Amino acid sequence: MIIKQQNETRRSGLAIMGGTFDPVHNGHLRTAVEVLDKYQYSALKLIPCFQPVHKGEPGVTARQRLEMAQLAVSSHPRLSVDSREVEREGPSYSVDTLRDIRAEIGPDEPLIMVLGMDSFLSLPTWHEWRVLTQYAHLLVVSRPGWEPDLISELNAFCENYRASASHELQCAPSGLVWFETLTPLGISSSMIRSLARNNESIAYLLPEPVQKYVEQHQLYR
Ligand code: ATP
Ligand code: MG
Repeated sequence: MIIKQQNETRRSGLAIMGGTFDPVHNGHLRTAVEVLDKYQYSALKLIPCFQPVHKGEPGVTARQRLEMAQLAVSSHPRLSVDSREVEREGPSYSVDTLRDIRAEIGPDEPLIMVLGMDSFLSLPTWHEWRVLTQYAHLLVVSRPGWEPDLISELNAFCENYRASASHELQCAPSGLVWFETLTPLGISSSMIRSLARNNESIAYLLPEPVQKYVEQHQLYR
């Protein structure tokens, strides 16, 4: 019991994971859970975007993507969904979201933005990407099919901000980059959309309540 209490008090840091979640799947969720367990962050929030900046308009509404994410996390005590990007509407820039959250949690709490290797490699195309580390750390997680083949711009960026140990991300509010290898799960939302379109089963790639939601609303047909 005493040990448990010590573990509880060691938890610090808010992790967030943005995405289109079109739909949310076990690749997202397993990543979130492994990050929480490995680092003892106090919570992780999934933040579905309203309008993705770097890909076409999703085939389902932002509300539906939000509802699916909410269904997916309802049984996990430290996972939740943050609806601010959907409510804000317009293009969803991560930098706006990070500024917002930083203002809410104050200057000292570690804020960790979790992103897959594919997203990280596209970072130089993001709006105001160079200032993201003013508000949060970047925790880059492995994703099957994506290697850290950094273009020089990103390489130079990593040189400046790379942490020397993962626990450093809990000792400062923002400003560091860390790479982590997690259980490889070759699942993507595109794959799920394509299976549904071809009338093939999407079972076990995403939580059952989300699968039911997709079927009930006849999404991705
Ligand atoms: P799509 O195929 O439509 O692009 P996706 O599966 O890539 O969808 P996104 O909503 O684009 O899902 O991803 C949100 C975040 O989750 C990104 O940072 C992405 O890198 C990460 N991510 C998605 N799937 C995985 C996975 N299987 N393993 C690790 N990270 C993942
Ligand atoms: Mg993607």
